[in-house]
Amino acid sequence: MLQPIAVGHKSLSDYTHVAGRPLIEEIRELATELKGLKVLHLSATAFGGGVSEILYTLVPLMRDAGIEAEWQVMLGREEFYNVTKLMHNALQGNPQGLTPEQWQVFAKYNELNAQELSEGWDVIIIHDPQPAAILQHVPEKGKRWIWRCHIDLSTPNPTVIERMVPLVRSYDGAVFHLPDYVPDGLDGTPVHICPPAIDPLSPKNMAFSPEDASYVCDQFGLDVDRPLMCQVSRFDPWKDPMGVIDAYRAVKEEVPNVQLALIGSMATDDPEGWEFFNQTMAHAQGDPDVHILNNLNSVGAIEVNAFQSQADVVIQKSTREGFGLTVSEALWKARPFIGGDVGGIPLQVIDGESGYLVGSAQECADRAIAILRDPDLGRRLGRAGKEHVRRHFLTPRLLRDWLRIFNGG
Ligand code: UDP
Repeated sequence: MLQPIAVGHKSLSDYTHVAGRPLIEEIRELATELKGLKVLHLSATAFGGGVSEILYTLVPLMRDAGIEAEWQVMLGREEFYNVTKLMHNALQGNPQGLTPEQWQVFAKYNELNAQELSEGWDVIIIHDPQPAAILQHVPEKGKRWIWRCHIDLSTPNPTVIERMVPLVRSYDGAVFHLPDYVPDGLDGTPVHICPPAIDPLSPKNMAFSPEDASYVCDQFGLDVDRPLMCQVSRFDPWKDPMGVIDAYRAVKEEVPNVQLALIGSMATDDPEGWEFFNQTMAHAQGDPDVHILNNLNSVGAIEVNAFQSQADVVIQKSTREGFGLTVSEALWKARPFIGGDVGGIPLQVIDGESGYLVGSAQECADRAIAILRDPDLGRRLGRAGKEHVRRHFLTPRLLRDWLRIFNGG
């Protein structure tokens, strides 16, 4: 049996005045035709990273709209996660491909999971590449199969995308964050573009008073009266935490009392994470103003919220980013934001209006210095960013997009 994930209950009506009544009414309208539809979300992990973050809200909201939605996680072991991490990196452009043995590991776990999958689904949504090959073994278990891609496929490693595309072509539809991410060769497969979204009412994103935010940060040893730069993300080379440390060092020359918090959870399907975490620690060279924390220091959703809310500048200096939920999370808290000009980040940030887009550590530092020196600028950017997220990147909009897809739109 694949592992079912318990997601709890959420009510769409709670979102009415945060996301806007017309959107919630549109959802109810779209849902009338879909009552009782059996939808399965299948992903590789329930912890860490954007996919699980999205499903913890999307699945209960689908249920509240009348759909019989479930979320299950595939079975895997370290050998499988090692391969799928390589695959993930290759699909985002890493030159290292997979050996025939590694492809066999991928195939073996997909086949195993296919046998374990239950039957009778109207729609099966396969998230990301890890379970993408299940469909070919058991197409009869779902009436409609949709591949939901969460990563940036704009410059993939050719040897890996060549094997992914035929898999995706056998789906009834594929969903991407951006038109740029749609790989060549999908031919007749219907393609939908819908970026992900954040839950404004979750513990990670609900409004936190400045007093509560600083109370939490204080317990992690930060001086809450001094300026804070912060990045929240997995310890992954594409997230460039070392570049953030370099930017912080350049800021510190101009703003000596600045501090940096790097918050990074370790996902269960990310064996590389620990090695990179240690490299990042080494890069910080024991600087007492650099606070590197992870979920093993009990940094959960509330703590992430507190750090993002407390930060004077939130950074996401990625060099590749499928979407970057952390971007919307920061903007939703009306924080001044600086991010890498890559992937899904420019979709969320209008450069100079609702944050800044940068291409280097020095540029990141220059923008951070400008924001730290001019609190009015920071407030303006933050406010504009929040309204952009309200319009485009809250979960009810994502739910609406899915209902349109289910309705054949
Ligand atoms: N996250 C977290 N704790 C951490 C690091 C990340 O809760 O220590 C969350 C983060 O707040 C965001 C998600 O994990 O909701 C990461 O999603 P994103 O799209 O930014 O990146 P991904 O990890 O999917 O590449």
